[in-house]
Amino acid sequence: MKKALALILVLTMLTFGAGLAEDGKITATGTGKGIDGDVVVQVTADATTIYDVQVLEQNETPGIGSVAVEKLPGAIVEANSIAVDGISGATVTSDAIKTAIRQALTDSGIDPAPFEVAPAEAAPVERTPETLECDVVIVGAGGAGLTAAVRATQAGAKVLVLEKMPFVGGNSLKASGGMNCAGTKFQAAAGITDSGVREFVEDTMNGGHFLNDLGLVATMAINSAEAVEWLESIGAPLPKVAATGGTVHKYLHSPEDGSPVGSYLVAKLSEEAEKQGIEIMLNTTATEILMDNGAAVGVKAEDAQHDYTINAKAVILATGGFGANFELMCSFNPSLANAVTTNHPGATGDGILMAEAVGAATVDMDQIQLHPTVYQATSMLVSEKMRSLGSILVNQEGRRFTNDLATRDAVSAAELQQTGGYAYIIFDQNLVDNNKSAREYIANGMAVQGDTYEALAEAIGVDPATFVETMNTWNAAVASGVDAEFGRNNGMDADLSTPPFYAIQIAPGIHHTMGGIKIDTETHVISTEGKVIPGLFAAGETTGGVHGGNRIGGNAVCDFVVFGRIAGANAAEYALEEALEPAA
Ligand code: ADP
Repeated sequence: MKKALALILVLTMLTFGAGLAEDGKITATGTGKGIDGDVVVQVTADATTIYDVQVLEQNETPGIGSVAVEKLPGAIVEANSIAVDGISGATVTSDAIKTAIRQALTDSGIDPAPFEVAPAEAAPVERTPETLECDVVIVGAGGAGLTAAVRATQAGAKVLVLEKMPFVGGNSLKASGGMNCAGTKFQAAAGITDSGVREFVEDTMNGGHFLNDLGLVATMAINSAEAVEWLESIGAPLPKVAATGGTVHKYLHSPEDGSPVGSYLVAKLSEEAEKQGIEIMLNTTATEILMDNGAAVGVKAEDAQHDYTINAKAVILATGGFGANFELMCSFNPSLANAVTTNHPGATGDGILMAEAVGAATVDMDQIQLHPTVYQATSMLVSEKMRSLGSILVNQEGRRFTNDLATRDAVSAAELQQTGGYAYIIFDQNLVDNNKSAREYIANGMAVQGDTYEALAEAIGVDPATFVETMNTWNAAVASGVDAEFGRNNGMDADLSTPPFYAIQIAPGIHHTMGGIKIDTETHVISTEGKVIPGLFAAGETTGGVHGGNRIGGNAVCDFVVFGRIAGANAAEYALEEALEPAA
């Protein structure tokens, strides 16, 4: 009896294909390559209609790829088309879902071509005017904007946050390393006594070639320990401490479980914002700062349906940098025209342009950081932490060529001098076992692997004998603690002797725009005449001066938490004073 049933089942499957019903409707799965491994999608369709799309398996970045996972299947079903727009900023995940659908259809004998036709353009919606009121309007919901929102609300202000992307987080979401803080209880617990505020200020000024605004740097360093305690108070402790690139001092704080700091903090700050009932308007772009009698009193903004006038007592610009605005970057540095960028598509410098339009000064706009380890095919950043944990860089000749953990600008410059202007970052299985990001790079197909040094060398077309010598020399340097060749003095706690071995080909990519709106240590925006513009505050990558000519790893996060908090508290205080001021 069982055999007969099995036979019927096999015959049915042969007749209709996996899941193909008599009416031509199939339910089948397909796979696409996501940011972190495969995205498996189940589709129910027939030759003319897509009835249902479900993402069954995925490990996409929370807050970015997850938005595509949540929104794209519904959009595809509603439009009956795979040719709908992907989710802005989540291209890899969007493409993975579409590829998986195509594969499921093709494998089931359904031609995907009819579904490749873009849905008819909807008639443009007439936007309706709408006026909103709040104490503090915050433009941008990245690290600085979310921090400022939580802090301003704690200080008693009614806050409204505008975010032009379909999700919060901006570039902050991509921060992989940690947050530099000095004089923290976590350092004390780890017995670190040589990495205090003074060293932090010195390293930041050194790293920035002393172009930095010393007052801003000191403010960041002095307030960093309190900032990390505040993060703990909202449920976001950063207890692990390590050295960051460009210094031997240990003040890079990161989450206990080794997860990337950016997505961790954005998730925690968003949870706190939700708990406090803060309204975040997504897909809403601020276009102009409203001024009255020389003071900022709100912003104009728009979404697909509305033209907003948002009246506020104070405005905080937290719009991030301009590392995705090639026109603006090239106006300061034309040689960047063909570089790849690690920035999210919303990093277009809107806040800087809006601030300039109301008389704000800018500083260091030509200081644009190239990060040395960017996988060029997808612009994916290979975290500096990989080198802090022991990776080295070798060139196509199989040799090291620099102190791998010198400042980012120095390592990038050295790389550009090598054959082809690229290098390989080399790591071993021990590092992979200790680092989640390394496992993601491998899952994404970025790494080449070899069971021996010779095999890896052959896989990347490098002379095996030279490469073996390079690796043996490096392992000996780790054992002795002395890098006689290039004077590297950190990230030498583990050698690279555990097979298999890995290489990722990398080259410099645009990473951080150090310049931006001029602020004082209270985050007031400063005018071209050197005066405070009342009611206007700015924090995070949209500002200039903190990082000077080169940002050290871990300082972007410290910047957005420290100055986001100051902006939130000061804007709230200013707004409440304005609100309570007796009418003249
Ligand atoms: P920071 O680290 O300084 O917070 P991020 O890049 O993390 O910088 O965040 C900046 C946020 O501001 C991003 O989410 C970006 O999409 C948003 N943003 C940029 N321009 C505008 C704008 N004109 N209106 C609303 N949001 C904006």
